[in-house]
Amino acid sequence: MVLFWRTYWGHMSEKKQIVVVGAGILGASVAVHLAEAGAAVTLVEAGEPGMATSAVSFAWLNAFSKRPFHYHDLNRRSMQMWDGLARRLGGDVGLTWGGNLLWAVTEAGAKALQARVAQLHAWGYPARLLTLDEARALEPKLVIEQATAVCHAPNEGHVDTARFIRACVETAVTHGTTVHTHTQVVGFEKGVRGELTAVVTSKGTLPCDTVVLAVGADTPAIASLAGVEVPVYHTFGATFYTEPLSPVFQTVSSVHTAADSEMQVAFRQLPDGTLVFYGGSHGTAADRSLGRDEAEVAQVFAQAKTFLPLLHNATIQEIRRGRRPIPQDGLPIIGFADTVPNLYLTTMHSGVTLAALTGEFAAIEIMHETEIELLAPYRPGRFIS
Ligand SMILES: Cc1cc2nc3c(=O)[nH]c(=O)nc-3n(C[C@H](O)[C@H](O)[C@H](O)COP(=O)(O)OP(=O)(O)OC[C@H]3O[C@@H](n4cnc5c(N)ncnc54)[C@H](O)[C@@H]3O)c2cc1C
Repeated sequence: MVLFWRTYWGHMSEKKQIVVVGAGILGASVAVHLAEAGAAVTLVEAGEPGMATSAVSFAWLNAFSKRPFHYHDLNRRSMQMWDGLARRLGGDVGLTWGGNLLWAVTEAGAKALQARVAQLHAWGYPARLLTLDEARALEPKLVIEQATAVCHAPNEGHVDTARFIRACVETAVTHGTTVHTHTQVVGFEKGVRGELTAVVTSKGTLPCDTVVLAVGADTPAIASLAGVEVPVYHTFGATFYTEPLSPVFQTVSSVHTAADSEMQVAFRQLPDGTLVFYGGSHGTAADRSLGRDEAEVAQVFAQAKTFLPLLHNATIQEIRRGRRPIPQDGLPIIGFADTVPNLYLTTMHSGVTLAALTGEFAAIEIMHETEIELLAPYRPGRFIS
């Protein structure tokens, strides 16, 4: 199907007219890479860029617990692409490196963490097991009452998604991209061969050679307008923001408390001093994010204070709530749809970690009409039985 579309494409105008739907972290990254590569890009966003899931994200750049190896490796490649991409976008996208500190509190949790670290070492990913005293010396403001195993993964970091998305959109505009905000995609027009010929929006119709869907948790709904079924569900997620505080961590860029405890809390600090945290119960915070109502917010804040007593003098200034998009098998969906050959899909959990790679790889595939082998496990067609 992709080959057929390439032939058809050959008759189109010189500059490829590409409509990118959604200006979250993935759409913004894909748009700037396509614009830099010489496409005529139109970015269509239902609200303002970066205000949906990407604004809620914990934005931890990591490959720590990703498996199998190909998925770990994909995340790791993307982590390594962030500095270069930031430089191309003017330098300051709020990247913070220093690594993640995490620990376990049960014997089973310790065994699992040690096994994970051994696996990461075999994959060449740096992660160091620390004694409790070493961990306390590493981060003196953090109270770790007890731990059965502690680990520091030094190459991990986080990014300020708002700054990154702004930089992508601004750079894309300098390369000729047109941005339509507060414009909702409500349908598609199709040609005789089933290809998309135009994107129908709440404000008019945009002709296109290719459409990139980067609409996060809305992917199933919008893809279905093009007749494509994409099995993506979503879970609730919330993050909490304090007023700017003086530096909290001296070495690490993020902390995840024990996942094998009643409630896991994660912390990071933005370059302006804002402390961002979130919490979850029953497994990792990602499994059961708390913060739907005041009681849950209070529960998370109380737990956070036990690890960072300085929070007793801080207040929660903002709570962001959103939807975490998760493909049915947990792996990213990146590539052309099998049944609509000029519809390119990008949706995933870990969309922040993977934004640098997804933007670059999607632009290469679309502009150079090639298929990147590393993306083979993530094609939309894998769900078609
Ligand atoms: C609490 C939480 C913590 C997380 N932590 C991490 C983490 O630590 N590391 C990590 O890598 N990932 C993390 N994630 C996941 C990550 O944030 C997401 O994978 C990523 O933000 C998804 O980006 P996106 O661009 O696909 O979606 P979004 O940011 O949701 O952007 C999609 C955009 O599409 C627009 N849109 C939707 N429908 C239409 C339409 N019809 N027309 C036009 N525009 C439309 C929306 O308005 C939105 O702006 C976390 C998520 C949550 C919720």
